[in-house]
Amino acid sequence: MKQKTALIIGIAGQDGSYLAEFLLSKNYRVVGLMLNSIVLSSSLIAHLANKIAITYGDLLDMGSIMETIRSYQPDEIYNLAAQSSPGDSWRLAIETAEITGVGAQRVYEAVRCVKPDCRIYQASSSEMFGTPTMVPQNEHTPFEPVNPYGAAKLYAHSMAQIYSKSYNLFIACGILFNHESPRRGINFLTQKVAYGAACIKLGILNSPDLNEQGEPIVKNGTIALGNLDAKRDWGFAGDYVEAMWMMLQHKTPGTYVIGTGEIRTVRQLCEEAFHGVGLDWKKHVVADQRFIRLTETGTTVADATKAKSELGWSPRTSFADLVKMMVEHQINRIKKQQN
Ligand code: NAP
Repeated sequence: MKQKTALIIGIAGQDGSYLAEFLLSKNYRVVGLMLNSIVLSSSLIAHLANKIAITYGDLLDMGSIMETIRSYQPDEIYNLAAQSSPGDSWRLAIETAEITGVGAQRVYEAVRCVKPDCRIYQASSSEMFGTPTMVPQNEHTPFEPVNPYGAAKLYAHSMAQIYSKSYNLFIACGILFNHESPRRGINFLTQKVAYGAACIKLGILNSPDLNEQGEPIVKNGTIALGNLDAKRDWGFAGDYVEAMWMMLQHKTPGTYVIGTGEIRTVRQLCEEAFHGVGLDWKKHVVADQRFIRLTETGTTVADATKAKSELGWSPRTSFADLVKMMVEHQINRIKKQQN
């Protein structure tokens, strides 16, 4: 059978790096599109450098996307690139719309013009549900985004349906709920908690890594977080990238909700992380108004029944194992930096 070529746009992000590993294990030729600003040797895909082809481009630049597709003739494109932080999306509202929203449309448009038989995976998000009235959420739950990120993702999601129907393109959308890993950016909540627990366990009471306010994430032995009662469905990114691939192997393009179906509060996340290293989270975590979002996302939890029945996908990693993996990774990272 002919070797397939997959183009991963946003390969140097959390999901892109896991997806690249997964597709290599499936014998794909993997091409990754990265921003020029990313240094390959210190990126999340440094260990794959001699196994993949790297090209540079930008979702803001139509020419670079068209040229990449023309040169590599991919069978599958995974569009994972985005300004991906809901929290930062008020500060970066226009950039979020242009990259996360219209950027995805540039991919559909480029495929339509250059290689219309190429299958596309679009990274949609549970943030499109905003403050849902139905719990859990499935593919029929109405969208009501409450932040610029959710709105930009909904634009990209809607355009995917329009391009799919109008031009007969194969565009599958995964409505993924929060998924985390040791590769999560330090500006995301779960990684802050994992890093905080690791620092305090190692006796670091003022951390070198800073939060979005430019202060140490751990300050005087304490981490400051937003709404501790916020509820989320957290899974492991390594499990979720398999669902992306499964969507593109299905006979028809579809939309699939992907999540664990388990709901936990930020408090429970802190408890799990700190308890795992023998600490009492209540002594080290404070709620700080400055980190509360302008509009809070509601209770989002996935009903992934369709993905299970149509694709055969289910998550494999438990919440406890995920948190343990992230805290242990941070402990090892800090120890390495200390040596
Ligand atoms: P991530 O780690 O932030 O990766 C996104 C990647 O896109 C980064 O490598 C980023 O480069 C790149 N990028 C940003 N702007 C770009 C541009 N203009 N042109 C080309 N590349 C650009 O995000 P992730 O967690 O892997 O998530 C992957 C996708 O799934 C994203 O679209 C995200 O919004 C979506 N999603 C994620 C979750 C989740 O919980 N992780 C849930 C639902 C949906 P820089 O690092 O240099 O900015």
